[in-house]
Amino acid sequence: MEKRGFWVAGIVVGLLGGALGVLALSQGFLGSRQASQEVATIQPASMPEPEVAPALPPKRITERPGNLQGSVMVVMYHQLGPTEKYMVRSYDNFRKDLNRLYEMGYRPVTMAEYAQNKMSLAPGASPVVLTFDDSWISQFRMLPDGTIDRKSFVGIWEEFAQKHPDFPVKGTFYVLPNGPFEQKNSAARKLELLRSWGSEIASHTIKHYDLRKKSDEVVKKELAESAEFVRSLGWEPVSLALPYGSIPRNTKLLEGFEWNGKRVKYQNVVLAGSAPNFSPNHRRFNPLRIWRVQAYPGVMGIDYWLDKVEAGESKPYVQP
Ligand SMILES: [Zn+2]
Repeated sequence: MEKRGFWVAGIVVGLLGGALGVLALSQGFLGSRQASQEVATIQPASMPEPEVAPALPPKRITERPGNLQGSVMVVMYHQLGPTEKYMVRSYDNFRKDLNRLYEMGYRPVTMAEYAQNKMSLAPGASPVVLTFDDSWISQFRMLPDGTIDRKSFVGIWEEFAQKHPDFPVKGTFYVLPNGPFEQKNSAARKLELLRSWGSEIASHTIKHYDLRKKSDEVVKKELAESAEFVRSLGWEPVSLALPYGSIPRNTKLLEGFEWNGKRVKYQNVVLAGSAPNFSPNHRRFNPLRIWRVQAYPGVMGIDYWLDKVEAGESKPYVQP
């Protein structure tokens, strides 16, 4: 009996050792995927279920303490080009934006995730919403060979995301019916890619009028048809970015209305503006008045606010 007990103990130790080895490999501590597969194939069929691996504490993105009341930066982009100009971000500056945001512990969320308070963030991370208005071709251009132009916002971001998988191409695109993105033939492919990365398509009206100058009927038509357009692209129209950030005179229309027998109501209305917005947990958060920070050099621009965060003068939302 004693001898048999010894053998049983030996087998248990051996199996545990094997289990730990497999766990170590599955955690990526050792070697390549190939090594993991080789080890896995020599496990005995009667191998007991391994104990649950001791959970590693998730890696904290920054040392900033959790702050669910902190502000959230929503960045507004329009066009991209070789040199920085009014409403045009340069290639270099967009790369710098991504790098700086990443290094400061920001991670991308969509407008819907932010405004509906459904953000999924690693501990210590702060959310940033990157928004793109008007679906310009420089936001997302396909080359004739079917690849994404690296000189478009999406191309630069996608390249960055390959190096930093925790900063995926997860933005919010306020589109117009111009393809979207001005290349009709590749529109479907672009939308498919955006969906696969977790990006969001949202409303920016149809004709891009200054709605403050339009009648209630025109405002209703613009909002209703844009919601239908976004739906036709495969997204639920959660938010509306007002062209020029211009609010209709009849502000009640932003709270919903009937149009052709249907209820039209955007959960969130997005303005232009010039400062980080309230946390969705903050008592002053207004889902129908969300303002953004412009991606331009200068006062109230993106770097101005990131400098303030670094100086401790602006407190961002931080996942505990
Ligand atoms: Zn616009």
